[in-house]
Amino acid sequence: MKESCGLFGIFSPKPDPKISRTVYYGLIALQHRGQESAGIAVGDGEKIKYHKGLGLVNDVFNEEVLGELSGHVAIGHVRYSTTGSNVFENAQPIVVAGQQGSLAVAHNGNIINTRELRSQLEKKGLPFRSTTDSEIIALLLIEQGPDMLHACLDVTRTLQGAYCLLLMNQNSLIAIRDPLGFRPLCMGRLDDCVVFASETVALDAVGAEFVRDIEPGEVVLVNENGVESHKTAFSRSAFCIFEFVYFARPDSVLENVSVYAARERAGRILAIEQPADADLVVGVPDSGTVAAIGYSNQSGIPYGMGLIKNKYIGRTFIQPSQKLRNLGVRLKLNALRELVKGKSIVLVDDSIVRGTTMGQIVKMLRTAGARSIHVRIASPPIRYGCYFGVDTSDRRELIAAVLEEKKIEQLIGADSLGYLSLEGLVKAVGLPSDRLCLACFNGIYPLQVPSFCTKYLFEKE
Ligand code: AMP
Repeated sequence: MKESCGLFGIFSPKPDPKISRTVYYGLIALQHRGQESAGIAVGDGEKIKYHKGLGLVNDVFNEEVLGELSGHVAIGHVRYSTTGSNVFENAQPIVVAGQQGSLAVAHNGNIINTRELRSQLEKKGLPFRSTTDSEIIALLLIEQGPDMLHACLDVTRTLQGAYCLLLMNQNSLIAIRDPLGFRPLCMGRLDDCVVFASETVALDAVGAEFVRDIEPGEVVLVNENGVESHKTAFSRSAFCIFEFVYFARPDSVLENVSVYAARERAGRILAIEQPADADLVVGVPDSGTVAAIGYSNQSGIPYGMGLIKNKYIGRTFIQPSQKLRNLGVRLKLNALRELVKGKSIVLVDDSIVRGTTMGQIVKMLRTAGARSIHVRIASPPIRYGCYFGVDTSDRRELIAAVLEEKKIEQLIGADSLGYLSLEGLVKAVGLPSDRLCLACFNGIYPLQVPSFCTKYLFEKE
C-alpha cells in the first residue's frame, strides 16, 4: 500500500524560462505522494515539451533538462501506481497528439469505469501506449476536438471515480476535481501566476499564496483572459479521510483543516479511548510522530525519540517482496537503546495496513530492552479496500480484514493493542462525517464499485 499521486501546475501570463523550475520545486514538496515516477510538461504557445522518468523528482530532472522546458504554462506529476504497474509508459503527464494540437494530462485518483471507457475508445481504433486510466482520460479529451474546456465539461460527465486532473494544451491550463472531491486540490497565486497543487505545502515551497481549494465538481480554466470557474455535477463531498491519517504532510492544510492539528487531536483522543500504563510514548517516524505527541500531551506520559529514522532511505528502495520489506524496516528505523531499555512503552503509529511493519518494530524495541510495548494506532482497523486512489483494492492484504484484534496483537508481538474509534478519528479531523469518505474503515463506498476493479485490470486481459 502506497500513497496516491501529487500534482502541480502553473500558468504565467508571460513566457517564463524558469517555469519548469517552479514546478520542480512544487513536485519536490509533493514527493511524499509518490516516488515511482515524475514528469513535467510545458507549453510555450506553440507546442508542448515534456520530460518524465522513473524515480524521484531529483533523479529524473537536472539543470539541463529543466533549462530546455521553458514556456508559460506547465504541469507536473509524481506518481505511485494505483492503476497500471511501474513502467516508463505509465509515467505522467501523459501527452497525446490530436489533429489540432497536443494535450498533456496529470491525474491523481482512480477511475472505476475504465473498462467501459477503454472499450469505447478501442472500438474507435485509438491506440494505447500505457495501461493507466490517465491515458484513457487524455484520449477521451483529445477526441472531443480543440475546445479544451468543452471537452472537459463533456468528459467529466462520463468519468466515474476519484480524479483530480491538471491538463494543458500549448497555451492554457485546466484544473478539475471530481464531483465527490475525494482527493485534494488547491489553487494559489505566485506574483501574477496562478498555481494549482495537491497540497498546500507545495504552495509554501514555491512561495505562493493560498487562494482556495478547488471545489468538488469544479472545472477551472486559466488562460490569457484570466481565471474562469465552471461547475459540473455536485452530489456530496466525500473527502478521503486517509489523507489526514497518512498521506498528506503535517504542514499541509486540507479542506481548511490543518493536518498537524488533526493528527495531534487523534493522538489525544486515542490516549482517552485507549489508555496505557507506561513510562514513555514513542512514535513511529514519520507517520506516527504527530499522533504520538498528541498521546503524550493528553496522557502526561513523556514523549521520546525511541526510534530513529535514516533520512536517506528513499521509499522506492524498499522492494515489494516480503523478505526485502523486512530488511527495509531495519535499514529505515533503529531503536534508541539508551532511551527504551527497561521502559514500558506506548508505541504510536498512524495505521496498520498489512501488519508487517509493526511486528518488526515491536521486535526491534524488545531487542533494545523495552520491558513492555503497548501499540496504539491513531486510526481504526482498515478492513476494506480502496478504489479511489489508494493502492489496496485487495482485501486479503489487509490484516484487519482477515484477523481479529487479539490475533493481530499476538502476531505483532505487542503486550496490548488499541485502535482509535472511527467516531474519534472523525472528531479529530473536525469535518462532518457525511463530507468524508470512510470506506476503508466502514466499507461504505460513496460510489458503487464494480467487482472487477483491480490494479492490473488491463495487463491481465
Ligand atoms: P504495514 O502494516 O506493514 O502494511 O504498514 C503500515 C505502515 O505503513 C504504517 O507505518 C503506515 O504509516 C504506513 N502506511 C499507511 N498507509 C500507507 C500507504 N498507503 N503507503 C505506504 N505506507 C503506508
